[in-house]
Amino acid sequence: MDILKVRDLKTYFKIKAGTVKAVDGVSFTLKEGESLGLVGESGCGKTTIALSITQLLPPEGLIAGGEIYFEGTNLLKLNEEEIRAKRWKDISIIFQGAMNALNPVMRVGDQISEACVYHEGMSYDSARKRVKELFSLVEIDESRIDDYPHEFSGGMKQRAVIAMALACGPKIVIGDEPTTALDVMIQAQILQLLNRLRKEMDMSMIIITHDLSILGETCDKVAVVYAGKIVEIGEVETIYEEHTHPYTEKLVKAFPNIFGKREMTASIPGMPPNLINPPAGCRFHPRCEHATEKCRLVEPKLKLIGGEHYVACHLRGDNDE
Ligand code: SF4
Repeated sequence: MDILKVRDLKTYFKIKAGTVKAVDGVSFTLKEGESLGLVGESGCGKTTIALSITQLLPPEGLIAGGEIYFEGTNLLKLNEEEIRAKRWKDISIIFQGAMNALNPVMRVGDQISEACVYHEGMSYDSARKRVKELFSLVEIDESRIDDYPHEFSGGMKQRAVIAMALACGPKIVIGDEPTTALDVMIQAQILQLLNRLRKEMDMSMIIITHDLSILGETCDKVAVVYAGKIVEIGEVETIYEEHTHPYTEKLVKAFPNIFGKREMTASIPGMPPNLINPPAGCRFHPRCEHATEKCRLVEPKLKLIGGEHYVACHLRGDNDE
């Protein structure tokens, strides 16, 4: 069953230089228990999608159009109080740079129990008990409950932040670059932990990353985001092995691939476009070696090309308007 449906989401930022169309017509569906990866270069709109779902946009951000259904309720129609009741309890987020998300002058256990008291109405004693359960879930010894963040290693801080995101038993957890600041070994442990928790707690998950290689073992589906739009979406193996969008091809080659043969990685030439004045037609055309006149003039739409595999590219002969 679908737990989250995002339809034609448009999220813009009004800044002095103009209107940044950070997310410009994004649609996807997340099923119960499913894990979806959102992948793309920095500034492509992935985090803005997460902040739109949780409605934690900064003051200059606005949702200019679309719908976000959680269990059939359009979140964009709820008032602030109703949204606050859903945030953390139904949908929680592990923020980018989570290692700095902990308050350095407050004990880690108190920071997590505060969330239980505030959102779940628990007593202090019950909240501490819950924190010990959460520590056990994320594999931190409960004797560390009264430690301060500086007494934790980087991996432990990340586990503590994950524990905080799980405190109210959410149905969806969004991890925004949850392993970026960690070394490769710890990164793998955190991804395994997230995967295990998703299954044990029967949650759905959205993992946001610029590194396609980390999604192989954690996600069922992957959506490739470029310049505020999804350009390809499909099952994770399909995206690794049968991708057809030239941008996905570049992303696959930019990181080591657990499904493919061992090859040297290659950087993606050029820069993502300025989203105040994005290129006409296909937004990837200035960087695409296959671009034609049609690509410069006509925007390709996301089309189903088989199974649950969608792609937006004129290379596909059936992408006619
Ligand atoms: Fe390249 Fe054209 Fe496909 Fe865009 S639509 S990715 S420019 S071939």
